[in-house]
Order: sequence, then C-alpha cells, then structure tokens
Amino acid sequence: MTSPLPIVRTPAELRAAVRAWQSAGKRVAFVPTMGALHAGHLALVTLGLAHADVAVASIFVNPKQFGPNEDLDRYPRDEAGDAIKLASVGCSLIYAPDVATMYPPGFASFVRVSGLPDLLCGRVRPGHFDGVATVVAKLLSAAGADVAVFGEKDWQQLAIIRRMAADLDIGTEIHGCAIVRDVDGLALSSRNAYLSADERARALALPQALQATRAAILGGMPVAAALAAGERTIKAAGFVRLDYLDLVDGETLHSLGRPAAGARLMGAGVIGTTRLIDNIAL
Ligand code: AMP
Repeated sequence: MTSPLPIVRTPAELRAAVRAWQSAGKRVAFVPTMGALHAGHLALVTLGLAHADVAVASIFVNPKQFGPNEDLDRYPRDEAGDAIKLASVGCSLIYAPDVATMYPPGFASFVRVSGLPDLLCGRVRPGHFDGVATVVAKLLSAAGADVAVFGEKDWQQLAIIRRMAADLDIGTEIHGCAIVRDVDGLALSSRNAYLSADERARALALPQALQATRAAILGGMPVAAALAAGERTIKAAGFVRLDYLDLVDGETLHSLGRPAAGARLMGAGVIGTTRLIDNIAL
C-alpha cells in the first residue's frame, strides 16, 4: 500500500526537508512519537500546527528507553495506520528511521540529565530517561525544527526534555500539550491496547484517585492523608503495584508537603502486566 504521506528514513533526508521548508519562509513543528498513534499524538500535531506552518512526526520505537524486562518486543507497531492518521490532521512528513540508522555499530554517546531522572518513574525504570534524552537530542538536532511538541501525559519526560534542550542549546522551542483522555477519563496511551476489558475498567481508578486526591487536598485535608487515601483507592481497584502517588513541584518534581502554585499530582502503577502513568494539575 502506498503511504498517504512521504516517509524519510535518514537524518540527512529529514534535515533536507525541514531546511527546504524553512528556506521557503515556513516554520516547522516536529512531533516525536513511538507510533501506534491515538488522538493524544494527533493533538500534538494539531498544537504544532498552531505554532508553525508545517508539521513533521517521527515514529521510532527507541530500544534505549526500554529496560531489559520491559515491553520492547510487544510494543504495538502500525506504520501504515499511523500514516493515515497523521495525514488526516495535516502532518506533511514522517521520519521513521530504523534502529541501525539511529544506533549504528560503534554508537557511544549518551545524554544524561542529572537530577530529574532520579525521581518518580526514574526510580523504577533505571536508565529509561537517559534513553529518552539521548533519542530526543538526536531527533531534535537532526530535524532542526522551529518547535517541538511533547505531551503532558509524560510530565517528567517533558521536564527532562525542557532541561536538556535548554542545556544543550538545541534551539527548538519546546511546547507541552494537555493530556487527551478517553470519554471516561483514562489518559490515552499506546499501552492501553494491552489492557483486557476488565483491566481497562479497573485502570480508571488511577485518574479517579488523582481527582479525588486533588479534591481532598483543595478541601483542606493534609497532603499525606489525601495521598494515602488515593493509594488505597488504586490498590483496592486491583493495581498489582503502585509505583508512586505524589504531589510534586511541576518543574523540580520534588515532593510537596502542602499545596503550592504549579503543583502537580502524579501517579504510576501496574495493572495486570501494563504500567500506566497519569498526572493532573493541583
Ligand atoms: P509515545 O508514542 O507514547 O512515546 O508518545 C509520544 C508523545 O505523545 C509524547 O510526547 C507523549 O507525551 C505524547 N502523548 C502520549 N499520550 C498522550 C495523551 N494521552 N495526551 C497527550 N499527549 C500524549
């Protein structure tokens, strides 16, 4: 089947395409993804097009951000379907390199942001954010786009990417896109495809606990007590593991003992064999 969108597979082709648009006076938005696209990803493209004239999306399932016991092999892949979805929201080009192009023999450079990756998800996914920072640094420097868009669903990732892009003078504006949720409130995620119908129903406890914890804190309950109640809700729903439920500063990601401006409630846990994350503003 022919793709409804042009697909390039090397950094040189990506850069040439972006430069050609920029030479014609157009601003280019870049949206990195791992494919298996849903409406959350498409919202990033739409936001990109609010800040630029042309949007380019990348699809690359990055092995360096998966731990040895994580779901790299079963991660959903659907390049043909993704191309149709991206075309439908006005994306102009797909960058889909293969692993050997991104990490050829002899590859030896890593980007490690210090501090932020040690917290929250980093505690249970050692090395994950080094893999993310490395691939995003490569993608952003290959693209040379004017803006890049990342989802607030991965709030910690967004904070790390902002830090990395500033520290390394990447020169691409970083924008965050609000979380897109299913009608019942579950944040859209490519990993939701792993959930059985029963797990899908019980997964709702995560966003519901975030909302209830928020309401409790704003209602005056001490933060520790509100978090403990939220943890009980999530565990009662049958999450086999709760990695964290915490109130943190939205930039430093440090735990907060009391409500503050810019605070964010963050949660992550495992239902069945699927790890889900979510967060909301306080
Ligand atoms: P992924 O393909 O899961 O690596 O995600 C690619 C980008 O889409 C990341 O910037 C994610 O934060 C973003 N994203 C994923 N799910 C959502 C969602 N439900 N709402 C908004 N952005 C999302």
